[in-house]
Amino acid sequence: MIKITIKENIEKIEELIDISAKKTGRTKDDIKLIGVTKTIDVDKIREALDNGIRDIGENKIQELEWKIEELKDIPNYHMIGHLQTNKFKYIVGKTNLIHSLDRMSLVKEIDKRSKQNNLVTDVLLQVNIAREDSKFGLYKEDLLGFLEEVLSYKNIRIKGLMTMAPHTENEDLIRSVFRELNQLKKDIESRNYKELDMDYLSMGMTNDFQIAVEEGSNMVRVGSGIFGLRNY
Ligand SMILES: *Cc1c(COP(=O)(O)O)cnc(C)c1O
Repeated sequence: MIKITIKENIEKIEELIDISAKKTGRTKDDIKLIGVTKTIDVDKIREALDNGIRDIGENKIQELEWKIEELKDIPNYHMIGHLQTNKFKYIVGKTNLIHSLDRMSLVKEIDKRSKQNNLVTDVLLQVNIAREDSKFGLYKEDLLGFLEEVLSYKNIRIKGLMTMAPHTENEDLIRSVFRELNQLKKDIESRNYKELDMDYLSMGMTNDFQIAVEEGSNMVRVGSGIFGLRNY
């Protein structure tokens, strides 16, 4: 049996992130590495936290909830998966960033619950660049109208964009998806909206984070690359 050493995996990934970042005049310190901990038990998560991970990402509310209970405020929490509107109430005030805002019903719910709790919730708009039926996210032609509408809600704050590339061996296709998201971010920035800071481009997972960083990502979401293959 091969023992996965989380420490070595993290070191390797940070090294690769650094190489890709340097191609764009940055270093690994400019890129936030989110450890994706879905299905991973808290002992392994603690090992990752002991080895430099500061941010963890989950894609299910229930799992996020109990891990927050266990780990308290040690890491920053990211909700990276599809978020059901009626479940946001369980994590209000507990996440640093929600990566998957993609529809008005969810905007209204997040704003309402955040207001009730006297806080502002930070979000990324998820864009379905490749228009895959299997994925959530806004189509790019709807992005600007959606963003402008969200800007009128005071208890929700847009911090950038997120996408997932298609699951494919075709690196050119993956690269074009990431490049397009970066371009959309630049287009939005050039409009100089008041009170909008597009700080984050969340793109890149285990199989494509190097391409993503080369194309401007500053937030990568890596699961199996750190914790090993998930058995589901
Ligand atoms: C699972 C997941 C990841 C990480 O996937 P890996 O291939 O294990 O790195 C990243 N982003 C989202 C939204 C996920 O659901």
